Amino acid sequence: MATDPDCIFCKIIQGKIPSKKLYETEKSYAFLDIGPVAPGHSLVIPKYHAAKMHELPDDSLADLLPIAKKIAVATGADQYNILQNNGRLAHQVVDHVHFHVIPKPSQEQGLVVGWPTTKPTPEELQAVHEKLMQKL
Ligand code: 5GP
Ligand code: ZN
Repeated sequence: MATDPDCIFCKIIQGKIPSKKLYETEKSYAFLDIGPVAPGHSLVIPKYHAAKMHELPDDSLADLLPIAKKIAVATGADQYNILQNNGRLAHQVVDHVHFHVIPKPSQEQGLVVGWPTTKPTPEELQAVHEKLMQKL
């Protein structure tokens, strides 16, 4: 299992930093976020240390979402966001993969999403589609 001795989330998994644990499996760990944007804001992380989602082996990745689902249900939230950030520009602060479960109880609480929609031409959309399809 990959770990990083300097990683704050690896230390949480190992119990070296305390956390409000919610759930644990052989491959994953879930706990309350220390800076919640809404009550119940939680993090689901793999025990395997990887900074970004694409660096995480599929078996670890596949273990995470069912736990996010359990926690989303446990919060009782009717509306919520699942968020997973990769890289500083994408608002990643901790370099250990984590899925946020964020209840959205009101306009003010929870995730506030900026969504700068663009209007590509059909040709631009086609070019992006072709480029991606070459790699899939
Ligand atoms: P990011 O912006 O990287 O997706 O979010 C990192 C999250 O980790 C933040 O919401 C932050 O509050 C949370 N966090 C950072 N350090 C700790 C910690 O030591 N304990 C807990 N429980 N959460 C943390
Ligand atoms: Zn780590």
